[in-house]
Amino acid sequence: MFNRVAIIGLGLIGGSLAAAIRAHGLATTIVAGARSERTLERGKLLGLIDDGSTDFAEAVKGADLVFLAVPVSSMADSMAKMAPGLSGTVIITDGGSVKGKVIDAAINCIAEHISRFVPGHPIAGKEKSGVDAADARLYQNHRVILTPTAQTDTQATERVRALWAAVGAEVLTMAPDEHDRVLAETSHLPHLLAFSLVDTLARQGDSLDIFRYAAGGFRDFTRIASSDPLMWHDIFKENRDSVLRAVDLFQQGLAGFRQAIEQGDSDDMLAIMTRANSARAHFLALSARTSYTAALQLNDDRTNAIASDNTAMSNTVSSGHGRRVEFHLQPGGALNGSLRVPGDKSISHRSIMLGALADGITEIEGFLEGEDALATLQAFRDMGVVIEGPSAGRVRVHGVGLHGLKAPSGTLYMGNSGTSMRLLMGLLCGQPFNTELTGDASLSKRPMERVAKPLREMNAAIATTGKGTPPVHISGGQQLKGIHYDLPVASAQVKSAILLAGLYAEGETSVTEPAPTRDHTERMLAGFGYPVSRDGATSKVSGGGKLSACSLEVPADISSAAFFLVGASIAEGSELLLRHVGINPTRTGIIDILKLMGADITLENQRDAGGEPVADIRVKSARLKGITIPEELVPLAIDEFPVLFIAAANAQGDTILHGAEELRVKESDRIQVMADGLTTVGVENEVYADGIRIRGGQYGGGEVYAHGDHRIAMSFAIASLRATAPILIHDCANVATSFPGFAELASAAGLNLSVVED
Ligand code: NAP
Repeated sequence: MFNRVAIIGLGLIGGSLAAAIRAHGLATTIVAGARSERTLERGKLLGLIDDGSTDFAEAVKGADLVFLAVPVSSMADSMAKMAPGLSGTVIITDGGSVKGKVIDAAINCIAEHISRFVPGHPIAGKEKSGVDAADARLYQNHRVILTPTAQTDTQATERVRALWAAVGAEVLTMAPDEHDRVLAETSHLPHLLAFSLVDTLARQGDSLDIFRYAAGGFRDFTRIASSDPLMWHDIFKENRDSVLRAVDLFQQGLAGFRQAIEQGDSDDMLAIMTRANSARAHFLALSARTSYTAALQLNDDRTNAIASDNTAMSNTVSSGHGRRVEFHLQPGGALNGSLRVPGDKSISHRSIMLGALADGITEIEGFLEGEDALATLQAFRDMGVVIEGPSAGRVRVHGVGLHGLKAPSGTLYMGNSGTSMRLLMGLLCGQPFNTELTGDASLSKRPMERVAKPLREMNAAIATTGKGTPPVHISGGQQLKGIHYDLPVASAQVKSAILLAGLYAEGETSVTEPAPTRDHTERMLAGFGYPVSRDGATSKVSGGGKLSACSLEVPADISSAAFFLVGASIAEGSELLLRHVGINPTRTGIIDILKLMGADITLENQRDAGGEPVADIRVKSARLKGITIPEELVPLAIDEFPVLFIAAANAQGDTILHGAEELRVKESDRIQVMADGLTTVGVENEVYADGIRIRGGQYGGGEVYAHGDHRIAMSFAIASLRATAPILIHDCANVATSFPGFAELASAAGLNLSVVED
């Protein structure tokens, strides 16, 4: 890759790059320029360099790459010393922690080479320094920031990028001033605070004695006060302006926190800390390249591994990115016991929304801590609502009232959650402030006009892209007016968005649906004391009311319970009690269909939970028979068909499904993907445009592809209960977002499942 590399400054950073270049065979010769003979001798002895000189001009002679790794304060001096030896084509780069000052030095000292100077900063380090700390693996899975200027030649940047990539680093590019500002806030400020805190406390009257009582938190917080004072002195000096700005920013925040404590303002204190909790989870998610939910579970050990230079950015790039998860199942078994599956997603979303808009504190239990509902939760935090938790399904929402939301400081990010975006569109168009809603790549392709259109009829000012997709811009300050809307297509999300906008509209807002859809919004509004009138297919609200906080226990999700309903039905010797399951009549198609097939399912202890009917469901194994599924039940069980197909594979005779074309446009083409899997394990089936015919009987095992569709993965896991050979299911990572803890719960009940991740 390079013929001759010269490293100027053979300490931790320079020595480690020399070692990595050597280990990867990226240069024919490596030489060093060092201040002392001793460093050069050590470098040779450790095998880092072939040769070296204390004369920097001599050291860089004939080099096609020079890497400067001296303290930032001596960059200018070192550049001036090496300048006479530089060739006219050499590429020069550096590893200094501050970029503005290093670029100034280059402009002054190596002006004729400036187009080939590529400023850089490896975000990696140790608390040790010097040539003996050199480590060939220091940069592996760490980030390197390059900060090319307008004058930097792109080819030179590319060669430096390729070098860092070849030693295992992830290379990012940033503008130099942006780099210095961001690093001042995320790295320099925390180091400054750690040094200052330890020093301040150590100089108290009782002096060092107090440390005897310090616990783990103190040790964690102050670990970086062990970093090299000289290096940090340099950094604070050389990045003075950005560091001072960061200190000012922090002082403002600290003053606010102090005031909240002084005044006993619990809301304010909790607001600060809950915002910090969730921001940190977001930071962990970013640095681990994992989902927000997984990040919430990451423990602190992970961040304790952060290296010395850059508190917020130096942790390793984990393999969480593109994580592969497989389910391995041994055939047979039975499901027994009593269990509670996670909370209903639709209800979890709405509990946060209505809790935030209510007067008083809403206590929620059984909240589904999945990505989607967490996106809703974060959006309300961003609009100033104090939300404690979630912690083990518990959330406390400090409602701000219908008119208490505050303008968010930036865009509201909805992740992958269509429900969050569509329902919030309804809510936000009645606010006095502007908002912008965005989502991930997949949500950014989904249609939003079917919600925007009726809202515009209510006088909302909403803009989507030319294709009717996100980002969605909502201009606040519009006086909404009530309308009557006939839904052209049955959709609970569109209906809910209109009704939520109706809370802010003058007069009555009513929606008529062409076929029954989930009515969780109507039920929960009533649960929060907001009058909703329902007459056949029409629901109606009037603006100007108020919501009162309440306690609610989110029912367990019947869509998650479905896997166990089918599993216990097909596996001989099973008896399961599924506790506190939502049995909203718009969701119970699965129970009706399984009963028609001969399942032994009984509902016990039926009751009301915040307007939603719930029951404990007892299911025992039974001989199932094939049926023709009544078409009117199809919309009421639309999400449960993958596992119903497994019930069909275990029934006597044929099960026939028609009228389910919607299954083809779910997370996957569920008809085809299920048919492929069924064929693999040996279940005879025939695919129709709008359904499938499945012949029940004995089946074996094999390798099945879930295509990232969580419900398909879980369905074939359940199928193993009656398989005659092992089943291996690929692509199961998404199960964790829709049904956190599925593998543990199913294994505890008796499924022979092991999860293999790489
Ligand atoms: P280091 O281990 O102390 O090495 C510094 C090297 O520079 C040593 O070889 C030293 O020579 C030489 N040096 C010191 N003062 C000099 C001067 N006045 N003139 C010429 N050479 C001099 O430090 P490091 O951690 O490698 O840091 C090097 C650079 O990397 C700094 O700019 C720092 O900001 C940046 N950086 C550090 C980290 C980190 O965590 N350590 C992370 C990213 C970037 P001797 O061997 O003779 O002492």
